[in-house]
Amino acid sequence: LLEMNHIQKKFDELMVLKDISFHVKEGEILSIIGPSGSGKSTLLRCATMLETIDGGEIIYLNEKAAYAQDGTVVYAKGEKEKQIRSYFGLVFQNFNLFPHYSVLKNLMDAPICVQKRDKKEVQKQAMSLLAQMGLEDKASAYPCQLSGGQQQRVAIARALALNPKILFFDEPTSALDPELTGEVLRVIRSLADRHMTMVIVTHEMDFAKEISDRIMFMDQGNVIVEGTPQEVFDSDNERMRGFLGKLN
Ligand code: ATP
Ligand code: MG
Repeated sequence: LLEMNHIQKKFDELMVLKDISFHVKEGEILSIIGPSGSGKSTLLRCATMLETIDGGEIIYLNEKAAYAQDGTVVYAKGEKEKQIRSYFGLVFQNFNLFPHYSVLKNLMDAPICVQKRDKKEVQKQAMSLLAQMGLEDKASAYPCQLSGGQQQRVAIARALALNPKILFFDEPTSALDPELTGEVLRVIRSLADRHMTMVIVTHEMDFAKEISDRIMFMDQGNVIVEGTPQEVFDSDNERMRGFLGKLN
């Protein structure tokens, strides 16, 4: 579904992603872990075309989103870019809801304005997503009237309203206290039960271990260890051990 091959990214002279390759198959859950500054967010931003890359290629469903050619990187444009962008949804650490829109409008805006879908159909889906998130009574509330956990569940519903094939999460719970973290993790678990393809950057090691098909450990712009949760957590790689040691 998604292939990232030999991705390189630098900010000025700083190589933030050195040569990153991975792929995600349909229905798979990949978690990305690693110390602060290792390049996890940058990698997600590159995968979702919020950030340009300096080398390598990005392929969604056999369509090239970006690829290097003669030393420059070429991006999909026009209809193809639109198509590729519709393949994924994104959930950030800080929710990023539109503060001046109601919850329902937050969900309905992009499907109507960007995807040009029928308003009635979009509203029906939005209400059903809110019900799934346990938020059916919050449709007319504004983001500032919700708890952090509720806001994050709205953000997840908003991403799902676009019917993405793959959902990216960048530390979806790190702005939440433990109690609210639980309710967001439950929602992500329920998506896993329905075989949603997901890429999750997280500091919640137990959660990553439990939910992931594969885990990727990054450090200083490189993938150091990659494999099943068991392979990664049992790895005798020194940097991996050091990272886990610091957390305990
Ligand atoms: P964290 O766990 O703290 O979120 P991270 O693994 O997500 O860390 P990134 O945010 O991807 O790390 O940052 C990787 C490196 O890239 C850092 O050294 C950071 O300072 C640098 N960096 C990120 N964004 C930019 C930018 N827009 N301009 C310059 N440098 C940047
Ligand atoms: Mg980050």
